Amino acid sequence: MNNIGNESGYSLFISDLHLCASRPAITQAFIQFLRNTASQAEQLYILGDLFEYWAGDDDLANADQADIIQAIKTLGDAGTQVFFMHGNRDFLISEQFAKATKIQLLPDPTEIKLYGKRILISHGDELCTDDTCYQAFRAQVRSPTWQAEFLSHPLTARKAQIEALRLQSEQEKSHKSLAIMDVNSDAVSALLRQHQYPELFIHGHTHRPNTHIIEIDGHQCQRVVLGDWYEQGSCLRLDENGFSSQEIKI
Ligand code: MN
Repeated sequence: MNNIGNESGYSLFISDLHLCASRPAITQAFIQFLRNTASQAEQLYILGDLFEYWAGDDDLANADQADIIQAIKTLGDAGTQVFFMHGNRDFLISEQFAKATKIQLLPDPTEIKLYGKRILISHGDELCTDDTCYQAFRAQVRSPTWQAEFLSHPLTARKAQIEALRLQSEQEKSHKSLAIMDVNSDAVSALLRQHQYPELFIHGHTHRPNTHIIEIDGHQCQRVVLGDWYEQGSCLRLDENGFSSQEIKI
């Protein structure tokens, strides 16, 4: 697709890239995406789980991350505004990371207005309320006390602990039904009501890309679920004419 000569601006939304050293092709595809597609966008929203995990901002010096950090910063320097919202894997991304990449950290959820549309954005994990075990874990690890204690350990020890947790989580997931790991529709309705029925609700996390039309209290809202980056990359493009999903070849 060629956007040269297209006067109207557009913005992009991505999530669930799960970048890690064991999948270098995805990292390369992301860097290419930043250089090509995203460099022509007005704004890029990264809605969580950019990394498979983030053990703390003192990992910024890790050579694995250097190209990623540099590519995000280059995009910002060239004029695309980059926003980041925490996912359940990279919620320890903090001010040092934001400074190094020039991203703006957003709380989850955040209301934005783009091209005349009122849009609510979120990672999406908080809406998986049927998974009570996960929600208990989430409440624990999002508390400042837990995070301060965790970050007081050496980086290598933190990485080892996260690796152990990931293994445990993978084992637990195989016993959980697909329905439990999806968003709860009552939780979605409550959130949309709380935010006065935005036209568009964009989130990731479930790895089930789709567009759902929701009728709620006489209002219509479209819930757009972003795709993940495994067999292919995936992004949502929004401009004044509406939104479209785009695939990125790996
Ligand atoms: Mn997630």
